[in-house]
Amino acid sequence: MQSRVYLDWNATAPLRPEVREAVVRAMDICGNPSSVHAEGRKARHLIEDARAAVAMAIGAQAEGIVFVSGGTEANATALVQGWTRGRAGQGCERLIVSAIEHPSVLAGGSFTPDKVAHATVTSDGTIDLDALQSLIQDGEPPLVSLMLANNETGAIQPVSQAASLVHAAGGILHVDAVQALGRIPLDVRVLGADLVSVSAHKIGGPKGVGALAIVDPELQPPASLLKGGGQERNRRAGTENVAGIAGFGVAAAIAGVDLEEFSRMQALRDRLEAGLAEGADVTIFSKGAPRLPNTTLFAMAGMRAETAVIAFDLEGIAVSSGAACSSGKVQPSHVLTAMGVPAELVQSAIRISLGHATKEDDIDRALKAWIKLSGVLRKAS
Ligand code: PLP
Repeated sequence: MQSRVYLDWNATAPLRPEVREAVVRAMDICGNPSSVHAEGRKARHLIEDARAAVAMAIGAQAEGIVFVSGGTEANATALVQGWTRGRAGQGCERLIVSAIEHPSVLAGGSFTPDKVAHATVTSDGTIDLDALQSLIQDGEPPLVSLMLANNETGAIQPVSQAASLVHAAGGILHVDAVQALGRIPLDVRVLGADLVSVSAHKIGGPKGVGALAIVDPELQPPASLLKGGGQERNRRAGTENVAGIAGFGVAAAIAGVDLEEFSRMQALRDRLEAGLAEGADVTIFSKGAPRLPNTTLFAMAGMRAETAVIAFDLEGIAVSSGAACSSGKVQPSHVLTAMGVPAELVQSAIRISLGHATKEDDIDRALKAWIKLSGVLRKAS
């Protein structure tokens, strides 16, 4: 039987072996990290080592890292009213997000819908900075939440330009860097972000753990979403997921230094795209924008994405239709819709995303499956 080819790394990345070892070791430490005895201190050390590793991977200070249950919770923790810069400042009471954010950001956190404005994107899937600027100028200093790289198209957003606009107006910038970490160089100071979300399972860490980085030490957080114990410096109550956090630390340490892998990956992705377009009328989304080196989102008129995903799966290849988080419920991609892509193409979009373990042979197999599938579709039409 042929081995399976996993090409859905933006949905989740396979656990790295070094991470698995760290998680298993950590699970054998029985202490509660809040306890003062030796067992507790051992657990505490694991958490603080991981905090330093995550901070290092993104260029933040360890004190600003708050461990949470993943990217979704990191985003929800950031998107609350009342962040202030310095104790005397007035809290941000309105939110601006872009139209292509992850659903966990589009949900608006604790802001009521009338306090949330949506910035449009251009047809290449990047934020329209003029539209963002007019929304920023349209009221009190806002909290603005933008992603660094889009999970569907891979389009890298002009976040540092946006940071200048937000800061000039006295606002606060949250950046969802969940898809960017480990895929492109990430330094939160260069970006100008005030708050940053990251998630372990996109970089070969365990699922169910992530972090919100409070980059600007002047930022005063509103009350914690989860109330109870004083864990995470009173910013997130609840006994920490020690094993998950330890695994996240190991994955982050590798992700920060493994970026060379990504130029190799870009060459594979480009070969894949050339092969997909050969002899078929294929649209590759955001091709003209700066993109993650591992992602391709493409469509062919007349193809149904769900059918194509199953056809790939039967050939032993895991790909996804649009965003994995929302597949299952078949809904048109809000990202492609916001880019003005016609509905017929939106429903045929397939995402293939690569990772450090992807090999030439995996691309050959994906292309072989595609030639078969597109041939069948052509005959049928
Ligand atoms: N933000 C982006 C851009 C994502 O792609 C995802 C997951 O796909 C999330 C946030 C949510 O992260 P998590 O799955 O860790 O909750």
